[in-house]
Amino acid sequence: KVRVRFAPSPTGPLHIGGVRTALFNYLFAKKHGGDFLLRIEDTDQNRYVEGAEEYIIEALKWLNIPYNEGPSKEADCGPYRQSERKNLYGKYADTLIESGNAYYAFDTAEELDAHRKDHEEKGKTFIYNWHNRLKLKNSLVFSAEETQQKIENGEEYVIRFKSPENETLHLTDIIRGEMQVETNILDDKVLFKSDGMPTYHLANIVDDHLMKISHVIRGEEWLPSLALHVLLYRAFGWNAPQFAHLPLILKPTGNGKLSKRDGDKMGFPVFPLEWKTADGDLFSGYREDGYLPEAVVNMLAFLGWNPGTEQEIFSLEELIAAFELERVHKAGAKFDPEKTKWFQHLYLQKVDDEKLAEDFSRLLQEKRISNSLNLKKIVSLLKERATFVSDLWEQGSFFFEAPKSYDEKATEKAFKAETHELLQKVISVLRTAEDFSAENLSEKIKGWITSENIGFGKVMMPLRLALVGEMKGPDVFEIISILGREESISRIEKAMD
Ligand code: GLU
Repeated sequence: KVRVRFAPSPTGPLHIGGVRTALFNYLFAKKHGGDFLLRIEDTDQNRYVEGAEEYIIEALKWLNIPYNEGPSKEADCGPYRQSERKNLYGKYADTLIESGNAYYAFDTAEELDAHRKDHEEKGKTFIYNWHNRLKLKNSLVFSAEETQQKIENGEEYVIRFKSPENETLHLTDIIRGEMQVETNILDDKVLFKSDGMPTYHLANIVDDHLMKISHVIRGEEWLPSLALHVLLYRAFGWNAPQFAHLPLILKPTGNGKLSKRDGDKMGFPVFPLEWKTADGDLFSGYREDGYLPEAVVNMLAFLGWNPGTEQEIFSLEELIAAFELERVHKAGAKFDPEKTKWFQHLYLQKVDDEKLAEDFSRLLQEKRISNSLNLKKIVSLLKERATFVSDLWEQGSFFFEAPKSYDEKATEKAFKAETHELLQKVISVLRTAEDFSAENLSEKIKGWITSENIGFGKVMMPLRLALVGEMKGPDVFEIISILGREESISRIEKAMD
């Protein structure tokens, strides 16, 4: 059975790279009728950030990427927070020691630093590996009794993986294909620390095994760990899952990885939700900036994947149906803020007018604007020019506030000697019209313009200016119909003064 997991470390807010990883895992799971797990990898207490886990869960919720096992969705493989599993990892580290795949190392941080300095001075890099380990302080050098004694004496130690020597590893990645790694370039990574906590590598492999993970789908930054992970599975005698490493997300310019700070530089969010750091820095979020989660999901799906067709608009269901890991590419994916806006614009058009009117009404309340106009009608007329709900206000504030001034250039062009008389005629039509629908008003006024051979611009331009204040907005007759008889006439009269 397909079982995948999203395994973030709660070291800060989830940036869109992380969300993309979650999304691809989710799509893959759903496509294959599998499970999508959320596992919180919080073994590194030093990097733990208050609120980060809640942020991750809330972001997934907002984006509609639900997990079926995870924190507060406990199932057979729980708990899903590594800190709550911490007593479980020690015995796995011991197994590796017993089988000769790992060893105790007693070198202190100061000693290791000294080795590093020493090497640097000779123009070399210090690596704790096959080449060095027999010159260092570990159980490969000490006798079993000595080692035992040190541990009993309470000397600080770590458990390191013993990478094999002189071997060529053949690794397989669904996206990248076959890769070869020489084991001699690997360092003996720490698996377990004397504080009783496993490191990421050990906890990650043990949990993926215990949680029966079939596919590990994660960011490219984990590719360098693949060899170690495959070796760990081998050392435990477990079947390894299949791996897929997703391409990096690059800055819009294409040079370099998109960073958490880039958002502010570009005036564009790179986080799903707003995030305030402990120092009081505020990072903007898609949600707070007025984006629809569907637009963000659609944009993210295209960061590294494409369906191989022209189709760009995909609902979550359509993504699930179309998604294939084989269609994810290796090359870095450029993040495109403008494209995100483009998606947002299209998704706003799909929002039902009733719902959009509710959101707009909330915005009007915030602006303390009370009105009795037909908001549903207004949003239906304005939305094609809007990307965000806030644009509806920019496009249509004139519905709620009569113009205080008139665009000068346009006024010069529109207001001629005969304008007064023409607008009087419009007013008289508005006064007597029984049916105040846009269609009827349009028919009456256009009919009159045509029969008198007046020229549309001569009437329509000053009329729009009188109602709106500038040459923008939807159909003039729709505007009049919405504003109603009294308000429309009063605006026209005011403009004639
Ligand atoms: N905890 C790791 C992270 O923060 C998980 C990497 C993995 O998926 O193996 O991304």
